Amino acid sequence: MKIALFDTKNYDIPAFQKAGREKNVDFRFFEAKLGPDTAELARGFDGVCVFVNDTVDSRVIGMLAEMGVKLVALRCAGYNNVDVRAAYGRVHVVHVPAYSPHAVAEHAFALLLTSIRRIHKAYNRTRDFNFSLSGLTGFELYGKTVGVIGTGRIGRAFIEIAKGFGMRVLAYDKFPAEDADFSYVDLETIFRESDVISLHCPLTGETRHMIGRETLGLLKKGVVIVNTSRGALVDAEALLEGIKSRVIGAACLDVYEEESDIFFEDVSGHIMEDDVLARLLSMPNVIVTSHQAFLTGEALSAIAETTAENIVEFFRDGFSKNELCYRCGKIESCRALREGKCF
Ligand code: NAD
Repeated sequence: MKIALFDTKNYDIPAFQKAGREKNVDFRFFEAKLGPDTAELARGFDGVCVFVNDTVDSRVIGMLAEMGVKLVALRCAGYNNVDVRAAYGRVHVVHVPAYSPHAVAEHAFALLLTSIRRIHKAYNRTRDFNFSLSGLTGFELYGKTVGVIGTGRIGRAFIEIAKGFGMRVLAYDKFPAEDADFSYVDLETIFRESDVISLHCPLTGETRHMIGRETLGLLKKGVVIVNTSRGALVDAEALLEGIKSRVIGAACLDVYEEESDIFFEDVSGHIMEDDVLARLLSMPNVIVTSHQAFLTGEALSAIAETTAENIVEFFRDGFSKNELCYRCGKIESCRALREGKCF
C-alpha cells in the first residue's frame, strides 16, 4: 500500500517509518497540507494520511476519488475537517480513536497549573535574575469545582487527575457514561458553578462556540477556561471580551478557532494578521500552546501504529474497525460515535 502523508512534520517521520516497515505500508512524506491545490500529489497513491488542519472537503474528496485514491487515514481522533457525508460512497475514512488520552489530559493539567501558579511568569523572571514574587499569587485546586464537558477517553483521564487534586467534579456529556463515578449535571450548572471548565467534546454543529457571548453571563467570575479539544468550541472574540471584562480569570488554550494557517508553523518573522490571537497572546492570564497536547513519544508511536493497522486492515478486509460512520448521515448523534459503526 502506497500512502501519501500530508502536512508532514519532522517529528512524524521516525514513528511512521517504523510502523510502515513493520506493517509493510509505504508511507511517502509531503510537507504540503492536503487541499484543492495539493490533492494532485496523491495521484498514483492508494490512500492519503492527513492530520487536523488538512482540508478534506467535498471538492478534495471528489478529486481523490477521481484519482482512484480509496482511503483517507486520519492520524488523529477528531474529524471535523472531513466532510464525512461527501465521503460516503466515494472514499473510506479511518481515524485513530484513541492513542493516549493521558497525553492530552496531562497537557490540559500542565496548562492549568502553569496558569494558576503563574509558572510562565516566574520562569521568565528567574531567568532574568528577577526573584520578586510580586504579582505571582495563585490559587489552589484543592476543593475547587471543575466542570468537564465531554466525558470520553480524554475527559475521563482528566477527571481522574482532577480527583487526585481533591477537586469537586461536575460533568456534562450528550451521551453520559453509565459507569460514571462522578456527577453529571446540565451545561448551565457547569457554567454557573465551575471555577475551572475543561473542554473535551468533539467539534460539531452543536458544540461550535459553546463558550460564546451568551455563555459569558452565566459564568462564575474568575473562571479558568481550558481548551485542549478544538478551537471553535470557544468563540475567540467572546473569550477576549470575557477576559477584558474580568469574567474569565484565565484561559489555557492548546487549540484556537483560526489555527489552521498558524499553528504548527514558525511565523515568528511575520506580522501577525490575526488581531484576536495577537491580543489574547498579549494577556498575562492567557497561555497558548500550538496544538501540542498529543505530542508525546508514547502518543506518536501509538498514532503511527494504529494508522498503519487501519490501512492494512482496510486494504486486506475491505473495512476497518476504525472507519468513521457516515452512512446514516447523523454524524453527531450516531451510536457509532460510542459503539463503532451503524452499518
Ligand atoms: P471521545 O470520543 O472518547 O469523547 C468525546 C466525548 O464527547 C464523548 O463522551 C461524547 O459523548 C461527548 N460528546 C459528543 N457530543 C457532545 C456534545 N454535544 N456535548 C457534550 N459532549 C459531547 O474523544 P476523546 O478521545 O476524549 O477526544 C475528545 C476531543 O479531544 C476530540 O474530539 C478532539 O477534538 C480533541 N483532541 C485534541 C488533541 C490535541 O492534541 N489537542 C488530541 C486528541 C484529541
